[in-house]
Amino acid sequence: MNYPVVLHPDKLLKKQAKKVEAITEELIVMLDNMYETMVAHDGVGLAAPQIGRSLRIAVIQADEEDDILELINPEIVSFEGETIDVEACLSIPGKYGLVPRHDRIVIRYFDREGVEYELEADDYFSRIIQHEMDHLDGILFIDKATRLMSEEEMVQYMEELEND
Ligand SMILES: [Zn+2]
Repeated sequence: MNYPVVLHPDKLLKKQAKKVEAITEELIVMLDNMYETMVAHDGVGLAAPQIGRSLRIAVIQADEEDDILELINPEIVSFEGETIDVEACLSIPGKYGLVPRHDRIVIRYFDREGVEYELEADDYFSRIIQHEMDHLDGILFIDKATRLMSEEEMVQYMEELEND
């Protein structure tokens, strides 16, 4: 089942999401539906506030061939470096932005079985995780962007990068 995606400037997107206290049957169904919703919208990540649920949960799949990453109560343990790159968001259609993020992060999170994991991520993967984790604190990429762009401006920016 696909959820409707909550769109900016809905106040739900600005709320601090609540910690998951127990992994229930309902939560498992929600994780499956979140993944379906993300894929249906050609997204690479989706956080629970984006489907109107104020919970610290995100689903991520940077590439079709990657495993699905389900983050429950994720926390950043350490980080290093900084890079600026283009981001977009399913909740803010048609907008792009240049957003500074940590290069490399280590996170701790729980999976749907309630098992705790530590994960190191860098580059694009690290960027997606940070974008989704920001959603759990009510932060959107437009809040952090050093420059906002329309689709045409983004395409032009990418072309200039390639020609450099
Ligand atoms: Zn987003």
